[in-house]
Amino acid sequence: MLKHPKKAVFFDLDHTLWDFDRNARETLEELYFVYRFDEIFGSSGVDSFIITYHRNNQRLWGLYNTGQIDKASLREKRFRDTFTELGADPEAFPQKFEEDYLSICPRKPHLFPYALETLEYLKTRYSLHLISNGFREACTVKIHHSGLISYFDNVVISEIVGVLKPDPAIFAHALGKARVVAAEAVMIGDNLEADVKGALGAGIEAVYFNPGGKQDLAGGHLDIRCLSDLRKLL
Ligand SMILES: [Mg+2]
Repeated sequence: MLKHPKKAVFFDLDHTLWDFDRNARETLEELYFVYRFDEIFGSSGVDSFIITYHRNNQRLWGLYNTGQIDKASLREKRFRDTFTELGADPEAFPQKFEEDYLSICPRKPHLFPYALETLEYLKTRYSLHLISNGFREACTVKIHHSGLISYFDNVVISEIVGVLKPDPAIFAHALGKARVVAAEAVMIGDNLEADVKGALGAGIEAVYFNPGGKQDLAGGHLDIRCLSDLRKLL
């Protein structure tokens, strides 16, 4: 159980409410055939293309989150590295593919199961806020196209604030916007480093959203497998 009564609930966006993997998969499947990547990797190569892309994207986001690469490098490298890894010439990767991906993917509306039902329940009891390390334009499109926008009083985006989770400064900024003290807030997110440790470091209780049941040996926070579990905690 949570230790203190809450007034504000902070949510992460990607991989917590917005089903990044499903939305990205749908987009990549469509673009793979539009850009005739089947002629390079075969029509059955779409799965390994997507899996390889996700791995590279995740690795590069890790570097971005720790300040080791910038936004431009992240975007330039994730597909080029995928091409290289799959044995294709990275120079052959069409820049327009990345542009289309950035334009189409954030418009995909898929959320995790029970996201809207849970927000509907929480909305009447708490003020709700988003804290995202995503990019400003992508976040804005995602929350509008998925219908999330109507549930949140504040959307805190690291690119605008100038600091990334897990920096306590972004949580302090969110607390100020929500007009609550740390004990009155709880953070829900899928990333143990950025969301969970970040929140705990700012004195905010944390709930780890762990739909895949990944091994979690870190202490000091609660775990949920489904967003609907939040109704038991809040
Ligand atoms: Mg996330």
